[in-house]
Amino acid sequence: MLEARIPSGPIEQQWDKCRSEMKLVNPANRRKHSIIVVGAGLAGAAAAATLGQQGYHVHCFSYHDTPRRAHSIAAQGGINAAKNYRNDGDSIVRLFHDTVKGGDFRAREANVYRLAQISVNIIDQCVAQGVPFAREYGGLLDTRSFGGVQVQRTFYARGQTGQQLLLGAYQALEEQVAAGTVTMHIRSELLDVVIVNGRARGIVTRDLVTGHIDCHAADVVVLATGGYSNVFYLSTNAKASNCTAIWRAHRRGALCGNPCFTQIHPTCIPLSSEHQSKLTLMSESLRNDGRVWVPKKKGETRAAKDIPENERDYYLESRYPSFGNLVPRDVASRNAKEVCDEGRGVGPHGQGVYLDFAEAIHRLGLETVREKYGNLFDIYQRITGEDAYTVPMRIYPAPHYTMGGLWVDYHLMSTIPGLFVGGEANFSDHGANRLGASALMQGLADGYFILPYTVPDYLASTALDPVDVSHAAFTATKAEVKERIEALVAVKGKRSPDSFHRELGKMMWDHCGMARSDAGLRKALARIPELREEFWHNLRIVGGDDELNQTLEKANRISDFLELAELMCRDALDRTESCGGHFRVESHTPEGEAQRDDAHFSYTAAWEWQGSGQAPALHKEPLTFEYVPLSQRSYK
Ligand SMILES: Cc1cc2nc3c(=O)[nH]c(=O)nc-3n(C[C@H](O)[C@H](O)[C@H](O)COP(=O)(O)OP(=O)(O)OC[C@H]3O[C@@H](n4cnc5c(N)ncnc54)[C@H](O)[C@@H]3O)c2cc1C
Repeated sequence: MLEARIPSGPIEQQWDKCRSEMKLVNPANRRKHSIIVVGAGLAGAAAAATLGQQGYHVHCFSYHDTPRRAHSIAAQGGINAAKNYRNDGDSIVRLFHDTVKGGDFRAREANVYRLAQISVNIIDQCVAQGVPFAREYGGLLDTRSFGGVQVQRTFYARGQTGQQLLLGAYQALEEQVAAGTVTMHIRSELLDVVIVNGRARGIVTRDLVTGHIDCHAADVVVLATGGYSNVFYLSTNAKASNCTAIWRAHRRGALCGNPCFTQIHPTCIPLSSEHQSKLTLMSESLRNDGRVWVPKKKGETRAAKDIPENERDYYLESRYPSFGNLVPRDVASRNAKEVCDEGRGVGPHGQGVYLDFAEAIHRLGLETVREKYGNLFDIYQRITGEDAYTVPMRIYPAPHYTMGGLWVDYHLMSTIPGLFVGGEANFSDHGANRLGASALMQGLADGYFILPYTVPDYLASTALDPVDVSHAAFTATKAEVKERIEALVAVKGKRSPDSFHRELGKMMWDHCGMARSDAGLRKALARIPELREEFWHNLRIVGGDDELNQTLEKANRISDFLELAELMCRDALDRTESCGGHFRVESHTPEGEAQRDDAHFSYTAAWEWQGSGQAPALHKEPLTFEYVPLSQRSYK
């Protein structure tokens, strides 16, 4: 069932070979094909713009009111590329190695190598679009470091890299809208995928303003619908980010890859109240200059400025002298949790560690620090009321990114023929832990450089029957969607969607978050079906389904989180090893680091939906490491 379609031959030639063997669609025939792209974030906008430019009829869907509001806009720190502008020893091979190792050997080598190769094209593409990357005095593009690497390969636009990249992709998209090749469908939410003769041939959407349920047919469907960290309720993701698109596709037959692989980011602003509904990231780039520490003494009550140097524990610098404050995210997060669990955390609830810029300000000067990170310090000041130029920031880990997603082959096609998946929505190239600044790289690689080859190859090599929305499969799927929406509104119980989401999120954080145990996961697996049952009997939605109704939108998305969460816990329970962000308390080295079990778990877990109330079936894609030898990760 899992045919990864990895090209043969040496890894550095695989992508070129694959591209040269792909079939092409004659320019005059391209306009006869229609392509649905769901998502207009970096991955979706890039794919839609490029496929439109090639001459296909593209229909691009987004639940936002403009592509510019996609969650990609939030990306702060930067985007990696093996340009070696710094002449500091970087190369495609090094980026490849860092990413395979950073992902704790749970990614597919062939995909990661291709990603490293394409990384260099992305920067050229974006510069040509006018993306204002930071430059050095001489005019060269500037770079900085991110965790888990020893070179400076991260390109950035102050603390707004995602926004600037998204504006570039948006302009390319709008150019195609003006040219008539791309039609935008905004405030339009995919609620199901339509399968005809085993192939993805369209989608069913709900107009978020009128409540209309519509069908759209095409030759190919591309999902670029982002990640699902909001399953934890509190996360750094935009509030609206959700799993509905990938989950509904999963229920139609697309396998879900490594759903339990989630990233807990070490530098977020700590939770300040139990009524909070959102967490805010402080970019990893801050770890270039900020020093992480906690007091040596448990239960310390003095202010940071009153704690002398010799009573501070710069625990990352002492435990990991080679990488120091720039260890990968999973390592930094686990260490922060550990020192807080020991009672050495700082701030009102003891759930925080310091990120201190005093030394950097002394070394570089206040103005330089302000230039590099000013907008991040401003965000911090607005949320906490504290001035991080004079007192250390307080940070704590929070859910941030999902390495899991729909399983895809080398062509980024899911197990449903004709259904492609790009960006954070696929199970991606990051294995069990994503290195900082690699999500933007992957999303844009997928959108600008991979899907524009693999989608046309599929079109050119597949005999597709003409299908339109009058086909019985559309009628049946639309009826199911309507029924589900009506069922949600009809519950008329007492609990708000948010209260279910909050309870689910807390459970996921406690049992499927930074540390996972057999007992905890079993507890969550027992409680989630009960909560789901209660949801369908006690949910309260105000308003109807034929109008703008954000409570209904939320409830609909939460109904999917309630199913996905169970699969995440099942996946986490099944994988009794620790790897990357997936830390099983039963599996660690004597020093407390994640202990992999390559003999039993060197595979991608791909889960197949077997129906409501049925246990999903596990398929395994074996992972082999020919080019980066398997080793215990060490950042010491
Ligand atoms: C605060 C923050 C900072 C980050 N900083 C960085 C960074 O510095 N560097 C880095 O590499 N990565 C960073 N990341 C990660 C990175 O931003 C994301 O992984 C990436 O932007 C995801 O892009 P995407 O195109 O896959 O999805 P998104 O940008 O999430 O876009 C999803 C799109 O799909 C649409 N959509 C979703 N579901 C549906 C549906 N059912 N129907 C219709 N439309 C739908 C949405 O409207 C949207 O247009 C950061 C993440 C966060 C949370």
